[in-house]
This record gives sequence, C-alpha cells and structure tokens, in this order.
Amino acid sequence: MADAVAPASNADWFARARRVIPGGVDSPVRSFASVGGTPYTVVSGEGPYVVDAEGNRYIDLVQSYGAVLLGHAHPVVTEAVTAAAARGTTFGAPTPGEVLLAEAICERVPGCEQVRLVSSGTEAAMSAVRLARGATRRDRIVKFDGCYHGHSDGLLAGGGSGVAMLGLPGSVGVSAGAVADTEVVPYNVVPALDERVACVIVEPVAANMNLVPPAPGFLEGLRAACDAVGALLIFDEVITGFRLGPDGATGRSGVAPDLWCFGKVIGGGLPVGAFAGRRDLMAELAPGGPVYQAGTLSGNPLATAAGLAVLDHVGPADYEALAARAAAFAEDLEAAVASAGLAVTAPAVGPLVGLFVGPASSGPLVPPWDYDSAHALASNGTYGHFFHAMLRRGVALAPGPYEVMFPGMAHDDGVLSRVVDAAADAAAEAATEREVEVG
Ligand SMILES: *Cc1c(COP(=O)(O)O)cnc(C)c1O
Repeated sequence: MADAVAPASNADWFARARRVIPGGVDSPVRSFASVGGTPYTVVSGEGPYVVDAEGNRYIDLVQSYGAVLLGHAHPVVTEAVTAAAARGTTFGAPTPGEVLLAEAICERVPGCEQVRLVSSGTEAAMSAVRLARGATRRDRIVKFDGCYHGHSDGLLAGGGSGVAMLGLPGSVGVSAGAVADTEVVPYNVVPALDERVACVIVEPVAANMNLVPPAPGFLEGLRAACDAVGALLIFDEVITGFRLGPDGATGRSGVAPDLWCFGKVIGGGLPVGAFAGRRDLMAELAPGGPVYQAGTLSGNPLATAAGLAVLDHVGPADYEALAARAAAFAEDLEAAVASAGLAVTAPAVGPLVGLFVGPASSGPLVPPWDYDSAHALASNGTYGHFFHAMLRRGVALAPGPYEVMFPGMAHDDGVLSRVVDAAADAAAEAATEREVEVG
C-alpha cells in the first residue's frame, strides 16, 4: 500500500512534528502514548476514509472524535464553507449564519430557548458553569468521574479521555483553589446535593470513558435532586448533541436540563461550541446580564455555515438508519472478536459504539457502569495490540482505550462489514500476542 514516491513518511512527519510541537501533537489523545508506535499523519479524508502521508487508506472510526457526522469532505460542507469563505472569514459583527444556527439548535432540542456560540466544547462547558454559578449565586459544582467537559481548570478533575489514557489524576498547573469547589462523584449514582450546589454537569451518555450508558432512572434522578435544592442541571451534549438524533440525549431520555453544552457535530468539522438554555437563565449573560463571556471568533461565519449544512442535511430517518447500522455493527464486532479468542464487550447507544477487549482468560466482560469499572476493562493492556492489528488491516480506531467509535452517515453496511472482518483477524493476532506477552 505504501507509496514509494511519497515525499515524507509518517515517521518523517512525526519526527519534524516533535521538534516544534510538544509530543508531536496538538491534543494528547492523538498521540500513540498508550498504544505505542508512531501516529499516521493524515493528508486527506473522504467519506469514511482517511489517507496518510504514505498513501495508506484507512476506514476511519475516529471521525475527529465525533466532530464529523457526514464523513470527511462531504460536498455539502465543502461547498458551504467555500461559499462562506468567499464572503469573508470573520467580521466582529453579527452575521446571519449565527442566527440560523441558533435557530436550528432551538428548533431541534426541546426546552432549549437561547444559544450563545463559542469556539470549542471546552469554552461551552466552562461558560455554562460560570452562568450556572452566576444565576444561582452559588459556587459548588458536581461532576462525575470519567466525564469529560473540556480542559478548563475547574472541570478537568476526574476527566476521562486523554487524562485517563495518560493515567493522570488531573493536571499539574491547576491550583487547589481552582478545583476546591468541584466535587467529583461516581457516574450512575444520584449524588446527595445541598443548597451550596450551583450545578450538576453530566454527559447524559458518557462517551469519554469509552462508552457508559446512563442507568435507567439516573438522569431523572439528577433532575429531581437538582430541583429539590435549586441547583441547575447541565447536560454536556458536546458528543451526543445532533449525533444520537436531532434532539440528542435530551430527546432520547425525555429529561430536560436547564443548560446544555454543544460542540463537535454543530461545527461540521470547524471549531465551534455552544451553550444554551432557558431564556431566563441565558438573560444573565452579558450584555444584558452580569455574567461575562466573550469571543473574537464566536459564531464564526465558516463554522456556522459548516454546522448548518450538516444539520440541514440529516433528518430523523437518517439518524434512525445510522443507529440501526451501529447496533448491528456492535453485535457483529463483539461476536467476531469473541470468536477469535478475546474477551470483549461492545456497548452501543444509538450511533455510539464502545469497545472493551481483554485476554480470553478474563472471561465474559460485563459492560461497565462507571469510571472504576470502565478503567478496570480499559487498562488490561490488550487494546494496544488490537489497535495496531486493526491499523495494519486498514482500520483506524482511536489510539486509546477510553474513546468510542464514531460510525457516521458515510459508514454504510459494506464499510462496517469490512471492519468486522478485519476485527476477526486482528483479534486473533492480538490474542496470540497477548499470550506471548503474559508468557
Ligand atoms: C470533546 C468534548 C468536550 C470538549 O470539546 P473541545 O471542542 O475539545 O474543547 C467537552 N465535553 C464533551 C462531552 C466532549 O466530548
């Protein structure tokens, strides 16, 4: 597959990257720190595929960690962005695109009345928490172990994803003061709250400790617990929003939070985030209210054009079809990996598919319900073998055991069945490697 005339190999690019970029990556989850080896450098993508610097083509299940829903370089996105760029890239004045995107979000998400656009999910979560504190005049926040809400100081504690992959408790450089008002509690248990709590922030389907669905009654319990003490409930739907369906986890669960965080899909692959909520709460924001929040590139015309193109392109039937494909894929994948001799569980929620693998000796795997149980399954050392065996067969998974797979609108049955075929072979190889390793 390697292209002999490629100007630089993946290794060349990575060596150059490491000279000028810490660790060679602009986000730690992209590094191969937990699986070993050298990352492939992507030069292009098309639909479900990415192509690396050596000309290798992979079926891509990373899809920018969920930012891409239609597949790479989808023409409706490319055309919308190109047209927007020709009109000017940023103005520092209101533009139609931000109005249209805010309207599109409010139309789809029940209970969501106003939206403030920002440039990342991190900003969305950080700003939603500030708003919750401002609106309640309380300081304490409650988050769940293994839920990721971006890398802002107060939210990084117990953060899942890259933090979990690197085995960090949080981050050096975050002061004790910055996290003093953050309480981290186990997922899927309704915590005891009191009247010092400004907000409870939760991933309504946890997708940064691999995949952990909410237990029946968990989200309803959070709603009731918040209401009992006057705390606000924040759904961080940066992954689930406009991916589980047009109305996200909110529609799926029937539980409405007070505030939402969005990102990823709503930017169509460009940098966007949003926080949103009831009109009375959003009125607390500057310029009308006392909670300050701002951004030079917020509501950027290219990003809103891309996001709108995606939201307008998909309807409920597309989401239903994708969820059905993903459910079948999860079942087939689990069966293929198990029959090849690894212990496995592949939980699925709508289009989100998780994957935990272990040595056959660990017996059938029970799907995890919180960070501790997810960590136990993700840290057995098998994933790295499986990951590389898949990569050699032309399938790109995330290079860490705490991420979910993102089959999207471009992953048809044919593509997904090739992933399953590759998984059967890859699992057999990984099982052998593991046996050699454990002796
Ligand atoms: C990705 C993610 C974020 C952070 O978004 P960025 O755009 O990476 O800053 C926040 N919350 C959740 C649930 C996420 O998955």
